[in-house]
Amino acid sequence: MRARGAAPVGGRGVDLMARASPLARPAVATRRAARVAVGAGGGGGGDRLGLEPPACGAREYCVGYGAMARSRRVVPRALDSSSMHAPPTDDVDWDNLGFSCEHVSKTMMFVATATLGADGQTWEWKEEGVGPYGALAMDPSAQCLNYGQSIFEGMKAQRTMEGNLVLFRPSENAKRMRDGAARMSMAPPPEDLFLRGVKATVAANAAFVPPNGKGALYCRPLLLGSGPILGLGPAPSYTFLVYCSPVGSYFKGGQLDPIRLKVEEVEHRAAPGGTGNTKCAGNYSPVLNVQLEAKQRGFNDVLYLDAVSNTYVEEVSSCNIFAVFGNKIVTPSLGTILPGVTRKSIMDLARSKGFEVEEAPLAIDDVLRADEVFTTGTAVVLSPVGYIERGEEGREYQNTEVAMSLYEALTGIQQQTMDDPFGWVVTV
Ligand SMILES: *Cc1c(COP(=O)(O)O)cnc(C)c1O
Repeated sequence: MRARGAAPVGGRGVDLMARASPLARPAVATRRAARVAVGAGGGGGGDRLGLEPPACGAREYCVGYGAMARSRRVVPRALDSSSMHAPPTDDVDWDNLGFSCEHVSKTMMFVATATLGADGQTWEWKEEGVGPYGALAMDPSAQCLNYGQSIFEGMKAQRTMEGNLVLFRPSENAKRMRDGAARMSMAPPPEDLFLRGVKATVAANAAFVPPNGKGALYCRPLLLGSGPILGLGPAPSYTFLVYCSPVGSYFKGGQLDPIRLKVEEVEHRAAPGGTGNTKCAGNYSPVLNVQLEAKQRGFNDVLYLDAVSNTYVEEVSSCNIFAVFGNKIVTPSLGTILPGVTRKSIMDLARSKGFEVEEAPLAIDDVLRADEVFTTGTAVVLSPVGYIERGEEGREYQNTEVAMSLYEALTGIQQQTMDDPFGWVVTV
């Protein structure tokens, strides 16, 4: 039997959750030096974390990397934001990137953990920095495995024509994770920790940021109630981590191929008073069945209706929806839908281009009469909709003009080929 805190079989695990005691903490300088050593030195990086034994013999929750011994083919040059970033690696076929975790095992991830301070009220965050992507050793009684304290974010880092690595409105994601943590009774990672974690992850994986125009490095911040609990309650400790993967277009086919949506009239993804407005893990799998069925029938995704009247559109599985009526663009109001950063940005862009933009209940009957329909999200960027089916009824959409002009405006700002009047782009 392995001791609590030991590595999972086959890996050199690391204790990330030594009790938050001043004695158990390495000096900041030591921690930083250790982190740089991981970035620059390649193999053997695990040592940086195995510095301190648990401060007491009490049951400790431990989370560890399982892949320390794996060889690192790509060694980032530096983690410092002011220095040059590595060019794209030759290890990836950049022209055939899908939306998958094919390359994830070669990347680095950022980890931080939170435990309650001595006052029993304040969360104390301990940053472990960036280390090799690998398995987490987790207690079977971890809250997130039993009761679902698990929320995520999705963001993209892009390589600009000039070779900068940039993020799009990362503070918005930090705030959304904070709000989601509050909804789910979890310890919220402070905004500066969140941003540091994402930037450190991008910098450490610079070689996996695709060449300009070939995709993006998708970053996945994750907050887990990783501490053990048996009776229903919030976890006693939390893990915040950021992993990443280079990605191409989200839907099958090209980025701008119009997508086909199936209206779901039986199952719902969210209800008033529920958690539809948070990216909590539990929102996604309950609708996988209808999504998989729709995909088998040649659709790209499902369009959900409101749970109360089955009349108004809500959103698609992972993106928001807009309908265009002449000079007016309508998108469903917030409440049970996910408040997308792309949604918010597209509304600002559309207004700046002279469209009248309205957040309002949007009936499926009206969507089926719209001039144009499109979806927005970090993963999908902006996808024009070419066909929507509800029951026996189907509607083809020929126009993609408005969608295209907003797509150009959005990606122009995101990739720094156009001015950024809103100040949305952040350089890593
Ligand atoms: C993440 C997500 C979106 C899009 O949000 P962005 O911030 O634009 O990426 C929309 N709907 C759902 C259900 C999502 O999970």
